[in-house]
Amino acid sequence: MAVWKPCHSDESTGLRPALFLDRDGVVIVDRDYLGDPADVALVPGAAETMRAAAALGYLLIGVSNQSGLGRKLFTIPEFNGVMKRLDEVLAENGTGFDGFYYCPHAPGENCACRKPKTGLLDEAAETCAWDKGASWVVGDKASDVALARAGDMGAVLVRTGHGATYEQEVRLMMENDSEILIADDLAAAFAALRRADRRGPGR
Ligand SMILES: [Mg+2]
Ligand SMILES: [Zn+2]
Repeated sequence: MAVWKPCHSDESTGLRPALFLDRDGVVIVDRDYLGDPADVALVPGAAETMRAAAALGYLLIGVSNQSGLGRKLFTIPEFNGVMKRLDEVLAENGTGFDGFYYCPHAPGENCACRKPKTGLLDEAAETCAWDKGASWVVGDKASDVALARAGDMGAVLVRTGHGATYEQEVRLMMENDSEILIADDLAAAFAALRRADRRGPGR
């Protein structure tokens, strides 16, 4: 597994809730194996939502499968360029990630960090603690939903990116699980998770 930015929680303030955010299709427009910083484009409302969540005390932690690295469709320097551009664009909008973790492997490598496996969460937990009962994963694939539930957190599938194509599969997962939600985009996901009955800030 790999770290773009390690998350460090401040124990003196107590456990904070976390929003684990998938990158492609949630925070930025999914470009299928994005390797060019010029192609970084925020999903409308995503930066504003991150700013609002941070103001409420949520840790913002990126968790991203980047199999384009393992498939050799783009290089680590290209990936780093994309991440640097994303950090700039978020900073221009007054926000940013507290931590960012990614899986650089191809699916066939059978690593421990490709979502829905929990390696990225385990890696974050080495330097960062969060209040699972008040925390969520937001993603555009069923693997993001499965990661959330494996990590004892709530899940929101967004319809941006590939989300619409996973809606039916996730609806089946929802039949016996009340901690999974579906929303149009990150902004709607945040509104929905705030309404849901997990122990978020101010509850
Ligand atoms: Mg995605
Ligand atoms: Zn991996």
